[in-house]
Amino acid sequence: MVLPGICFADANASFDDAQFVICGVPFDRTASYRSGARMAPNAIRQASYNFEAYLFEHDVDLSDIPMNDLGNVDECGSPDGMVEIVREIARRIVNAGKFPVFVGGEHTITIPVVEAFDDIGVISIDAHLDYRPEYLGVKYSHACVTRRISEHVGVENVLVFGVRSISAEERSDKMPNYIDAFTIHKEGVEKAFRRAARMMEKERVFLTLDIDGIDPAFAPGTGTPEPFGLTPLEVKKCINMLGKRMVGFDITEVSPPYDEGNTAALAARMMREAIAVVWKNRR
Ligand code: MN
Ligand code: MN
Repeated sequence: MVLPGICFADANASFDDAQFVICGVPFDRTASYRSGARMAPNAIRQASYNFEAYLFEHDVDLSDIPMNDLGNVDECGSPDGMVEIVREIARRIVNAGKFPVFVGGEHTITIPVVEAFDDIGVISIDAHLDYRPEYLGVKYSHACVTRRISEHVGVENVLVFGVRSISAEERSDKMPNYIDAFTIHKEGVEKAFRRAARMMEKERVFLTLDIDGIDPAFAPGTGTPEPFGLTPLEVKKCINMLGKRMVGFDITEVSPPYDEGNTAALAARMMREAIAVVWKNRR
């Protein structure tokens, strides 16, 4: 079910001993513009060796944190097949009381990960609303992520942060809450994200980071680049502000064929940030 591969840096614990479990989902079957996200889990793992284990600003050493890397899910054929197997793996992690960190793959992988949880809210940092009922006849598509998630957690418990692309089709429906990128640039990320966190009624929040939420100037290696995005530092601040409310994290839509390595490095650094921040808040 899970293939061994290179491990995320400092993920040296066994599954049983781990508090954080990383899993790659090399799925990009529904990519509509440019594919390649299936190569991201291993590219991000490789990039993770670029960084010090010690994050001085948090006084956290990642080599002290019990992390396990399950490797990649190998059954990533049809969308239905991917959803089924990822849901099962995510349930195993969540039911064991561990913090899941999933690495896409395209954003579709977030649907089964969120379905493994009960009674949570979801914040999606994304350039896109991803709220289409279906896309090109497919229900489990990267363009339908927040729609499928809303069906599981309730639309009032979903918030998209940093959005700057909404289709007319999505507009006509009962939409999830969102704070658009232009508003964030105007009011400042700290104020905007504090507002977002307050809008989430559920205490426990899953954070999904579609890398295209970050501006393509910083994260060019992605399937659907969209101008006017957030900076990496702004997203780092969001992760820090969410802190102990975070019950799971994923990073999606990195596309190595369009990357010179900096997008994968950024993704690896954001994973390390999320893990360090949750660990620091639990300690
Ligand atoms: Mn997305
Ligand atoms: Mn997106």
